[in-house]
Amino acid sequence: MTRERAPDAYVNSVLPPVYYSASYYFDHAEHVRTGLHEKSEPAGRYGRYSNPTWLDVERRLNELSGAESSLLFSSGMAAHFTTFLALLSADSEVVLPAESYRQVRNVFKEILPKFGVRVHEISIRDPSAFVQRLAQLADRVGLVHLEMPSSPHMYLIDVEQVRAAVGPDTVITLDGSFAPPPNFHALRWGVDLVLFSATKYLSGHGDIVAGVLSGRQDLVERVRWYRDTTGAVADPHTAFLLRRSLDTLPLRMERVNAQGLAVASYLEAHPRVSQVYYTGLPSHPHHKLAEHYLAGHGGVVTFELGLTEQETAAVVDRLQIPYMASNFGAPQTLVEQSTFFTYFEYDDAGLRDIGVDRSTVRLACGYTVDVEHIIADLEQALPRR
Ligand code: PLP
Repeated sequence: MTRERAPDAYVNSVLPPVYYSASYYFDHAEHVRTGLHEKSEPAGRYGRYSNPTWLDVERRLNELSGAESSLLFSSGMAAHFTTFLALLSADSEVVLPAESYRQVRNVFKEILPKFGVRVHEISIRDPSAFVQRLAQLADRVGLVHLEMPSSPHMYLIDVEQVRAAVGPDTVITLDGSFAPPPNFHALRWGVDLVLFSATKYLSGHGDIVAGVLSGRQDLVERVRWYRDTTGAVADPHTAFLLRRSLDTLPLRMERVNAQGLAVASYLEAHPRVSQVYYTGLPSHPHHKLAEHYLAGHGGVVTFELGLTEQETAAVVDRLQIPYMASNFGAPQTLVEQSTFFTYFEYDDAGLRDIGVDRSTVRLACGYTVDVEHIIADLEQALPRR
């Protein structure tokens, strides 16, 4: 049987097709020379290196973040880990916020030190103390990793001050999973590379796990080599689902921004809620930073009830609408009691370290649920006024 490939018939398809091929052929030896050796004309080669469906998503991600270049990964963690692996070496010193996502912290505390990376963990609860400490370390540190807003308290960082403190040559990476554009444009504020768990708002349907890196071309190229080599790539169907979702991102963010603010305002006015963490409320400790950096505050609201862990669990159990599940940005409303879920392995000292109380609840509004229903559900579940 001879090689056979039918020409594409439906080139007028409104959506570009999804490419599932594991490899891409060259027409003849000269094509290998121009397409592979010289790269003077576009040519696919092998599915771990490139895929037209990813390339389409990555173009859209450039537009979304105002980035020179973007890479798609198999998960948010793969995006983080591959980036750090590419940019750090045995003598590197890095800074990371103590309040970063638990698994990112694990990468810095448990994995990277095995390869000689020295990690300085600093709390961001006091934003000026964070910048001051950073300025003291500036001469030694080659990379600063930020996360903003942080979970569960939605703490923010004065990114411009961070850039001023470390100077132009230190690489700043930022995990913006809780505030993608249009809420926050990290690259406009001196950040070199922005990372996202695309599992969250970017995909927004709770149906894929994926990660994204966007930013400076020279740095992205260094990371690309590590992605190509180690293979933390997303499959084409995942790329297709993310591409579909990016069209509705601004609409979904507008909706959850309104939901989040309504739920946070309701909770703050409730006499049995002791503390609400929502950057859109003036009571948030970093509200001033929020006014400067954020155009919206998202659909995740964290609150404390001033109860024991068991009493708090009983309140969460009474909720009828949210699924008890870890995620946000999905169509469904999700709830997690922080010390039962994300931080269940932490002891009291560990919880004190990151400032998480045992009555902390994180509610992620789902954009398919009317906010009045979410509030009515909270009203029946919370202790009587
Ligand atoms: N960063 C943040 C802030 C997250 O919340 C998560 C996941 O929960 C990640 C990164 C990791 O992303 P993924 O679950 O897509 O690997």
